[in-house]
Amino acid sequence: MPSHRAVVTDLDNTLYPWVDYVVPSLEAMVDSLVATTGLPRIRIVQSLKAVYAKFESNEYPFAIQESELFKPYEADFDSFNALVIDPARLAFKAARDRYLHPYPGVKETLQAVKARGLKLVALTDAPRNAAEGRLRTLKLDTLFDAVYTLPAYPLPDHVDPEIRRKEEAGHYRAGVEVVELPADHEKPSPAGLRRVLRDLSLRGDQVLYVGDNVTKDMPVAEACGALGVWAEYGTYVSKEYRDRLQVISAGAVTRRHVADATPTRWPLAISSFTQVLEVLDGARWSRPAPRRRSARARTPRRR
Ligand SMILES: [Mg+2]
Repeated sequence: MPSHRAVVTDLDNTLYPWVDYVVPSLEAMVDSLVATTGLPRIRIVQSLKAVYAKFESNEYPFAIQESELFKPYEADFDSFNALVIDPARLAFKAARDRYLHPYPGVKETLQAVKARGLKLVALTDAPRNAAEGRLRTLKLDTLFDAVYTLPAYPLPDHVDPEIRRKEEAGHYRAGVEVVELPADHEKPSPAGLRRVLRDLSLRGDQVLYVGDNVTKDMPVAEACGALGVWAEYGTYVSKEYRDRLQVISAGAVTRRHVADATPTRWPLAISSFTQVLEVLDGARWSRPAPRRRSARARTPRRR
């Protein structure tokens, strides 16, 4: 058995339940916009969804000022910012702080992986800013040796000067080396993991790759010869949350973060991220041994 020298992990729905936080956060933001503008909820939702689709992320923080619906308010950006954007941003953040948490045992497991002397790398299809923001909020960023993301979204022309100042001062950057991959490296393209292997000077069979999406993550591991570990627990999303997410999230964006409800399975499945350590110790999925009639016949019966 090759000894593993690195763990490469997906982020959303592998280290934390992305849906559990993004649904209440987006809803809180929409509630705030309804309250501050008096505009119909349907118009707000549709106009934000269009921006999320354009920027390919539900966490694009400048969706409000980028949306067509709010264009008339931009004539006086300061009052628009104070009365509409800021309250919405704070509503999103309050819900995020409340509902974004790692799955049980994630932090301890990442620390244990590091303590074994293995490299620890994140490979996500989230844009750089969103991935960095989440890892910072979760205080997981400094545990990684590197984080590989898709390209960051740019700041819009109209933005709170304080946010621009902070962005330029690196205030929003995570405490880890972040590599922005080209957009065409989105999984299931194996190009992202190949880049990680090249940067770490490792072969695929020296890497354990963890992800929740059987059709996006596991083909990446397979193509690179890495040991794919399916975070099955990340696919357990309630129907109610899927439905609520569909209302506010563009379909293409949702698919980037959440595995479709699919009957497709991957044999090496874990029900907790903590089991990554067991897989590193050699635990593997194996077919149950067929029961042998002769063996059973030899077993004395108890009466
Ligand atoms: Mg995922």
